[in-house]
Amino acid sequence: MSRLRFSVVEKAFAAKPIEVKTPSERPDEYFAKHVFNREKMFKYLPTPVFNKLVDAMDNGAALDRATADQVAEGMKRWAMEQGATHYTHWFQPLTEGTAEKHDAFVEHDGKGGMMEEFSGKLLVQQEPDASSFPNGGIRNTFEARGYSAWDPSSPVFVVDDTLCIPTVFIAYTGESLDYKAPLLKALHAVNKAAVAVCRYFDPEVKKVVSYLGWEQEYFLVDEGLYAARPDLLLTGRTLMGHEASKNQQLEDHYFGAIPARVAAFMKDLEIQALELGIPVKTRHNEVAPNQFELAPIYEECNLAVDHNMLIMSLMRKIARSHGFRVLLHEKPFKGVNGSGKHNNWSLGTDTGVLLMAPGKTAEENLRFITFVVNTLMAVYRHNGLLKASIMSATNAHRLGANEAPPAIISSFLGTQLSKVLDHMEESAADELVSLGGKHGMKLDIPQIPELLIDNTDRNRTSPFAFTGNRFEFRAVGSEANCASAMIALNTAMAEQLTDFHQEVERLIGEGEPKVSAIIRVLRRYIKECKPIRFDGNGYSEEWKAEAARRGLDCETSCPVIFDQYLTPESVRMFESTGVMTRKELEARNEVKWETYTKKIQIEARVLGDLAMNHVVPVAIEYQTRLIDNVYKMKQLFAEDESARLSSENVAIIREIAAHTAYIKEHVDALIEARKVANRIETEREKAVAYHDTVAPMLEEIRYHIDKLELIVDNQMWTLPKYRELLFIR
Ligand code: ADP
Ligand code: MG
Repeated sequence: MSRLRFSVVEKAFAAKPIEVKTPSERPDEYFAKHVFNREKMFKYLPTPVFNKLVDAMDNGAALDRATADQVAEGMKRWAMEQGATHYTHWFQPLTEGTAEKHDAFVEHDGKGGMMEEFSGKLLVQQEPDASSFPNGGIRNTFEARGYSAWDPSSPVFVVDDTLCIPTVFIAYTGESLDYKAPLLKALHAVNKAAVAVCRYFDPEVKKVVSYLGWEQEYFLVDEGLYAARPDLLLTGRTLMGHEASKNQQLEDHYFGAIPARVAAFMKDLEIQALELGIPVKTRHNEVAPNQFELAPIYEECNLAVDHNMLIMSLMRKIARSHGFRVLLHEKPFKGVNGSGKHNNWSLGTDTGVLLMAPGKTAEENLRFITFVVNTLMAVYRHNGLLKASIMSATNAHRLGANEAPPAIISSFLGTQLSKVLDHMEESAADELVSLGGKHGMKLDIPQIPELLIDNTDRNRTSPFAFTGNRFEFRAVGSEANCASAMIALNTAMAEQLTDFHQEVERLIGEGEPKVSAIIRVLRRYIKECKPIRFDGNGYSEEWKAEAARRGLDCETSCPVIFDQYLTPESVRMFESTGVMTRKELEARNEVKWETYTKKIQIEARVLGDLAMNHVVPVAIEYQTRLIDNVYKMKQLFAEDESARLSSENVAIIREIAAHTAYIKEHVDALIEARKVANRIETEREKAVAYHDTVAPMLEEIRYHIDKLELIVDNQMWTLPKYRELLFIR
């Protein structure tokens, strides 16, 4: 009866690495081979068209139709040389994945035949019939009117036979229906606000770019084993399964030698990623068995987000050709580490300065401190919102549950930087700046050695840590679209820098010299945002109590955390920066709540099915065998002796009865709880009900299933066990 499990285990054991051919060219030669980048634009476009396009890419200038037509023509020529026959507008709806609809490059030629055609109109704007993408009620389905439009700041690329055009997805009434549109607005807002502040230090600065370097964690599971687990197949995580006797306690997987089949997968993935212009750099084993990590070099934020979306779909595809499935879920296995996606974030100027990196002179360090302190203020003011930006039904298993990072946003600075801020806070303003004779201004800001800042005492438990020349937002989920976190963070920073600039301007207007005005405002901020700074152990119980005393957001319920998007502070932040309106925020929250409900609903159904159709029948069959044995003992031995010999089995019979009774009862109760929740009208209240009543039952039922797994004969158990899923590769 459990033949499937054993045959997939056997096959998985025998699987050999697939050979991946090393390209004959060097990586720098095949890098971006399938991308219509500047080099190819220059080659395929007439110079005036190229210049206009560069202006659109760098400065957001609008593309007129005639130019768009010529761009499309050059693009098509290049794509067809790459073997493309189709094109698609590639966009990022609120479902976390990407969406595409492929059309062939064909049009009537007016003579009864067809020709391969691709006009500027099709490049610049399309109307996908996308009424079934989540939109939170912004578009009524009977007028499914939304359009997608090319984002020239992200280059088009070819995958297989299709030219992919990164686009924003917008309702006809102007509201964003995706992640990219608000991200572009947030990046624009932070650019504007940061340039104004940068000019205090260097009047030449014209542009500030937001950078993102993501680190993607994931699990690989043999495809046959995966297919034999309906929970992995349908929900992306295991809803049941007792811990293996060994998991990660020996820490022998982390940074260990990469297993051969996995190494082949990684090699394949890296070659294809490089060909698509994704600058992948790092790969290694992660903490949990069968867990790995991939990281590229950081890039401009919008491009980095696109590349992360692209790499996740590449991973899914390439894993299958190596007989694996990739698990991007934040918590596929209980009892071992989950997966995150650290978002390394910083700002940099067009003059080549990284604003989160300490400099060599006191003036450079004042600029550095200005940006660090404003970041801390932004994170402090919007700590609840930042948590909401990374929250989801799946990431909830990592946050605040039993593992890192905690469901409280705080920031780790390390001892050196903390000391500098303490020094600024404690000194009187005029001690910090002295306007000394012919040496001009003197600043008393301690030196900070570049880059080496706390490389040694990095705090792994901090959700928002300073790491030398950037901040690392570690709470982002492995499956998430990074844009969500990047929209919140960059918008918060834009608002904060704008406020800072206004305050400094006011003081300057009152006659205070620029530098002391800057220092005065910063000193106030350093005091005000102190509650967000925490260098201790973020996992500890004491921190939870301490954070509550400090007034940080400590909410742990996922649907309630989403409320943070609609607080007056958040709405003001998004509206004043022009990133999103209240209407958009409300609509997006509807989508978040609905998605939350659906995810838990699916898990509840799958668990009910597993329990009743896979687990209970097997347990009862095993129990029947034991009962049989007990009866036969009675026939064979005298009453006393048979009672003694069967006492263990009788105890197991009772245990199985207790667990199966519990499971049956609670699977029924689970169905009832869903029925009650489903009758609730508003999406928010429904999600709250799913969180409060349905989700906890999944854990309770699982507990009893996992106990049965320990009792029932291994030969009879139908579902691949943790040791098989986690250790075969
Ligand atoms: P670790 O695992 O030690 O945190 P990694 O080297 O794996 O570090 O990843 C660090 C990531 O941070 C990489 O993607 C890297 O390119 C990126 N990064 C480095 N400097 C910056 C910066 N100034 N801004 C944004 N990202 C950065
Ligand atoms: Mg990291």
